Amino acid sequence: MSAPDVVVVGAGPAGLAAVATLGRYGATVTVVDEQERPGGQIYRRPPAGFEPLAGPPAAGAALLAEATGTPGVRWRNDTTVWGVLGARAGLDGFVGGSPTPGRHRVATYGPTGVELLEPRAVLLTAGAYDLPVPFPGWTLPGVLTAGGVQAFVKAQGLLPGNRFVLAGGHPLLLVVAAQLVRAGARVVEVALLPHRRDLVVGPAGLAAAVAGRGKLAEGLAALRVLRRARVPVRFGTVVRRADGDPDLASVTLAAVDRTGRPLPGTDRELPCDTLALGYGFVASVELARQAGCAVDWDSPAGGWVVRHDGWLRTSVRGIAVAGEVTGVAGAEQAAVEGRLAALGVLLDLGLLDAGRADALARPVRRELRRQRRFVRHLLDRFAPNRAALAGLVTEDTVICRCEEVRAGDVRQALRDHPHLHTANAVKLVTRAGMGPCQGRSCQPGLCQLVAEETGRTPEQVGAFTAQAPVKPVPLRALAAVDDPSGPVAEG
Ligand SMILES: Cc1cc2nc3c(=O)[nH]c(=O)nc-3n(C[C@H](O)[C@H](O)[C@H](O)COP(=O)(O)OP(=O)(O)OC[C@H]3O[C@@H](n4cnc5c(N)ncnc54)[C@H](O)[C@@H]3O)c2cc1C
Repeated sequence: MSAPDVVVVGAGPAGLAAVATLGRYGATVTVVDEQERPGGQIYRRPPAGFEPLAGPPAAGAALLAEATGTPGVRWRNDTTVWGVLGARAGLDGFVGGSPTPGRHRVATYGPTGVELLEPRAVLLTAGAYDLPVPFPGWTLPGVLTAGGVQAFVKAQGLLPGNRFVLAGGHPLLLVVAAQLVRAGARVVEVALLPHRRDLVVGPAGLAAAVAGRGKLAEGLAALRVLRRARVPVRFGTVVRRADGDPDLASVTLAAVDRTGRPLPGTDRELPCDTLALGYGFVASVELARQAGCAVDWDSPAGGWVVRHDGWLRTSVRGIAVAGEVTGVAGAEQAAVEGRLAALGVLLDLGLLDAGRADALARPVRRELRRQRRFVRHLLDRFAPNRAALAGLVTEDTVICRCEEVRAGDVRQALRDHPHLHTANAVKLVTRAGMGPCQGRSCQPGLCQLVAEETGRTPEQVGAFTAQAPVKPVPLRALAAVDDPSGPVAEG
């Protein structure tokens, strides 16, 4: 088989919508995703052969059917993309960019081993993950992210505990709490950091609410489930610490002031065996950054997000993006962006002429504008309060779990080396971010800590340099890159 026209990284709503559009207009596509089955985060499904608890919602089922029914598509499930390398650049390509303009090698590792795909275009739709929030006890067994808890329920039909507390600031937490209740879990409290009064909407909010009525209805339905199950939902509340030995046994919650700081004398200890955290999301931009794509800081939208033009092309020729990597915005917007990015790729590959691409893009852009109006409003209202969350960290709090670096080590490094003020410099001195997760877990917390300690903004502190492999792979995967007889798969 010849090399694919396009490699799509990620089979969530953005990737699925892109695949369907690319296939419809004659592009050959290879889709790579770490999960066992397409669907991404929101339409995550049990492994084949498992009896599903409930199928994906109608919109998801239709999108999955459309994409998986598209001819000319190869599905590489259970496979990780660990780098987007320069075409035939050998190990030099690890720094991203491409000596052959517009051509890249997509380095994958999966059940059949290493593959280096050489498409004519790359579309990154790698989604997002839960914002990790360090505080005393956050590394105890039993402390999970809300998305992690949801993955147990969706993919395995399992409840990872008996007594749940959910803490965070993102509306998805309510949806997860309702899913847990429906699955038979005992949810003892949902603690939300924003105050109720922060959520009152003005006229602009009302207009946005009309645009996003589907999501609002989902949130209200979740609240109804929680009310019926008598689950307390408390606003203006933060989780200060988690305790237990060896596993989680209780959490301490506190009321917060207007700025999100715990109010003295309001601590409450609540017994539980599972704490699910949902303070927001981090856009999965590591592959884009590793490939050299420009990013911008947008705290409410997931931190660093990939810069793009009106066709969702990045600053690197031959690489486009769609979905949460452009900013966390929900499944509907991700799918709309997937279609638009696909039209842009088809235009660039000469599979659509400019007039036809423009005509097809017009209604998609209209829908995208409608989505963005609502989403921006929602994001600004539920933006993670990074400064308040950084205030929870004590000297002993682990910041980097892979390298066991504590907040005290970071602060000491800053005292010992007063010239240090970037995340990358602190990484080099402390080793935070050098472990197997390559900083996915510690980078947001460490960057905020450095920002607080040095009085700089997160933009000034910056991110860790993103390098291949962006995810853990065996050494033979790296060896294959410079081996001319290596397993360069064709399509
Ligand atoms: C944990 C979690 C749970 C969520 N649950 C809900 C929910 O219940 N309801 C809701 O409305 N919204 C939910 N969201 C938000 C929702 O995920 C998004 O709105 C939507 O799924 C975004 O679509 P996407 O295509 O951009 O990304 P995603 O759906 O996240 O899809 C990205 C895909 O890329 C794959 N991927 C990433 N990196 C690599 C790599 N290096 N190699 C190979 N594959 C890779 C991932 O496995 C994933 O399947 C959730 C988000 C998260 C993070």
